Amino acid sequence: MAKKSLQTKLIHSDYTAPEGFDAFPAAIHHASTVLFKDVAAMRSGDWKNKSAYTYGLHGTPTTFTLEARLAEIEGGSHCLLAPSGLAAISMIDLALLKSGDDVLLPDNVYNPNRELGRWLSQDFGITARFYDPLIGAGIADLIQPNTKLVWTEAPGSVSMEVPDLRAICDAAHAAGALVALDNTWSAGLALRGFDLGVDIIMQALTKYQSGGSDVLMGAVITRDQALNDRIALAHMRLGMGVSADDTYLVMRGLPSMKLRFEAHDASARKVAAWLKARPEITRVLHPAFEDCPGHEFWRRDFTGAGGLFSVVFDAKYTEEQTDRFVDSLELFGLGYSWGGANSLVMPYRIQGMRRDWKDAGVLVRFNIGLEDTADLIADLEQALARL
Ligand SMILES: *Cc1c(COP(=O)(O)O)cnc(C)c1O
Repeated sequence: MAKKSLQTKLIHSDYTAPEGFDAFPAAIHHASTVLFKDVAAMRSGDWKNKSAYTYGLHGTPTTFTLEARLAEIEGGSHCLLAPSGLAAISMIDLALLKSGDDVLLPDNVYNPNRELGRWLSQDFGITARFYDPLIGAGIADLIQPNTKLVWTEAPGSVSMEVPDLRAICDAAHAAGALVALDNTWSAGLALRGFDLGVDIIMQALTKYQSGGSDVLMGAVITRDQALNDRIALAHMRLGMGVSADDTYLVMRGLPSMKLRFEAHDASARKVAAWLKARPEITRVLHPAFEDCPGHEFWRRDFTGAGGLFSVVFDAKYTEEQTDRFVDSLELFGLGYSWGGANSLVMPYRIQGMRRDWKDAGVLVRFNIGLEDTADLIADLEQALARL
């Protein structure tokens, strides 16, 4: 158009980017509306096809780039992004379960996942049952003809039991059930879920992938087209869009993720070993330590551990005392989540969460960040003195 009014010019620019411009960071495409070249292109576009762009909610080159990279990291072939780790969990349940079905969840599962199971049981005609995370092959006895999905978490992110994933996958598959793994603890770096037989891997990208404690996002990764298509339908129906800027933040974290993870891991093992030698601590629940239930499965299946572990205080210390310890820490922020540069601490009332923990002392979970290890230990030492 030769002549445009000022108002139209405010909306339509004549600028076109130079041909051949390229850079290492993938371009960020902000889009709700996606433009079609012509009507034929619009009619032939299929939202399921990742080379056809139909609407911002169904994906842009920015989100498809991150999905492809995450699938590659996990050794899968398909990935779907969700606005949080919990949204990824709910998308899996809503895609794969319907009224009359049964789902099994470990007793130590990420608490909002347990809460979702309870909701499905109460209001949606689905049964959700909880199993001992160390059940291993014994899970075969719990699987019913209507059990469609078995959730696993390796390790449980508060009490840290490491499950026998191979045995659970074998039993579930023998009975025709799918296995979903919450693989957030190892970021897809230290545990190869698909190699052990897992069907669906869920990640909270909020943690190590972003690494900045500044973005919420989740991913569902599969290596089977038909299974991905079922979950993609729920993704579309539920409107699981993510923002282009958040996607960029996660992509920005990926190149340094493995180095950060290894630094968290090395420091966390030193801090855990120091705590293990302290008289105030009765147990160190770090999967790389023999104290940790399921340690043998960590040794068999994992190649690293990251920064998250828990300790159990001697039961002689009251909650008031351990609260004072937590409040006395200066370098550890009191907050949920992990995977960022800042060390975090969180006390848990584990006695009420798990049946077999009735006599345990207070459990305190640490996320070891990227501060100097000696400084963290000095901080723990001064806070223990305040017990
Ligand atoms: C954080 C977390 C989630 C949920 O991720 P959000 O992005 O915070 O919703 C799920 N599972 C585990 C094990 C987590 O640590």
